[in-house]
Amino acid sequence: MTLSLYNTLTRKKEPFEPIDRNNVRMYVCGPTVYDFAHIGNARPVIVFDVLFRLLRHLYGKEHVKYIRNITDVDDKINARALQDYPKLPLNEAIRRVTEKTANQFQADVKALGCLEPSAQPRATEFIPEMIEMIGVLLSKGHAYEAGGEVLFDVSSMKDYGALSNRKLEDQQAGARVAVEAHKKNPGDFVLWKLSSAEEPGWDSPWGRGRPGWHIECSAMSKSCLGEVFDIHGGGLDLIFPHHENEIAQSRCAHGTATMANVWMHNGFLQVEGQKMSKSLGNFVTINELLETENFGGRKWDGQVLKLAMLKTHYRQPIDWSVRELKETEFALDSWMHLARGVEPSNASAAVIDALQDDMNTPQVVTELYRLWRAKDSQALTASLKLTGFNPSTYVSGARRAVEKAFATVNKEDIETLISARLAARAAKNWKESDRIRDELATLSVTIKDNKDGTTSWEIKR
Ligand code: AMP
Ligand code: ZN
Repeated sequence: MTLSLYNTLTRKKEPFEPIDRNNVRMYVCGPTVYDFAHIGNARPVIVFDVLFRLLRHLYGKEHVKYIRNITDVDDKINARALQDYPKLPLNEAIRRVTEKTANQFQADVKALGCLEPSAQPRATEFIPEMIEMIGVLLSKGHAYEAGGEVLFDVSSMKDYGALSNRKLEDQQAGARVAVEAHKKNPGDFVLWKLSSAEEPGWDSPWGRGRPGWHIECSAMSKSCLGEVFDIHGGGLDLIFPHHENEIAQSRCAHGTATMANVWMHNGFLQVEGQKMSKSLGNFVTINELLETENFGGRKWDGQVLKLAMLKTHYRQPIDWSVRELKETEFALDSWMHLARGVEPSNASAAVIDALQDDMNTPQVVTELYRLWRAKDSQALTASLKLTGFNPSTYVSGARRAVEKAFATVNKEDIETLISARLAARAAKNWKESDRIRDELATLSVTIKDNKDGTTSWEIKR
């Protein structure tokens, strides 16, 4: 069995052959750091982490390069900086917002048990490369200056729109969409825009300004991986305009026929059939799921969140629900119980085959169940490890419940109930003593009557 991946560009599942087996290269669009990441944002992180692990398994750790950028130049960041730190100079306010958010993101994805990518370039570190690329696009006639912006001219590229399957005619001036006055075509997009004195900006041949979002990824992927690389990924919403425009910029600047050979897109994580997003307000952050009781009245282990995600194939939508998390935790508790402390053997061939089939993680989950039922603890442990699960750091649902019960229980109340029960027993009121025992059980308290006439208790599930 060899690896095959679904390619958005060709709309087919295709055998994967890296350009260079000793240097397999993948770029995935990372977060814009202005706010906590929601659990939908975790989906590409988790999906491409599994692919990273698979590629390392197939080609060797040292032969795979995975780049996930951090977008730290964006007007949403500026707006957040003004809102959160109105008294600070804007540059300092922006630095605080991006630093805090980026640190939170790293902590969140670590808790999900994802590997660190090979590098995480930040847009602000690549401004000269962006300026250089925009200069090339201008000199080759693919861009023009108008209305305080440098714009990419989509009509200058013959096959613009191939990724998202949009025809240029549909985007031509005069067609349904109204053209902003300074644009030649409605689909022309910003490469550079001038900044006012208050806005963040960098000096450029076109004046002090800031880059558009798309050019950031074109410049960073070129700098980190070269002009043409193997895999480019992100969520479904990035196909258009972000990835389409990345392709246009990179191919036109470098004169290449492709930017990346395989384009992969994960489906949406949904709540009641709608995409989870900040703008709809139907989101729960990764941090809330891990550290608060805002979702389902309890905290969840990062590995439960990850498994809940991988039960669905990455191209399908997922509905995020407490019920699904509970079921997932129930399964993971039993697998981890069997795997804890076990020396792994080899991962099951069925797991590797399933992963190689366009990352069929639902099939992987079926196989993990099978290994658990067969009590094949060594293959189960190895297979869990391959897909990014670690028994030694997992906190089971049962243990969490006990810890929570212990933290919330009022020890004096329990002692009072136990005394009342001893009194009932002394009075041979068995009905009352049983009732109190049951009441204690609902608090997860188990009692033990000792030979010396005392009663000890513990929290147990
Ligand atoms: P953003 O910070 O909005 O640019 O999103 C970062 C990444 O998360 C991108 O790859 C998006 O496609 C992805 N993403 C955002 N919302 C969702 C969602 N509800 N389900 C799956 N992926 C998402
Ligand atoms: Zn990008």
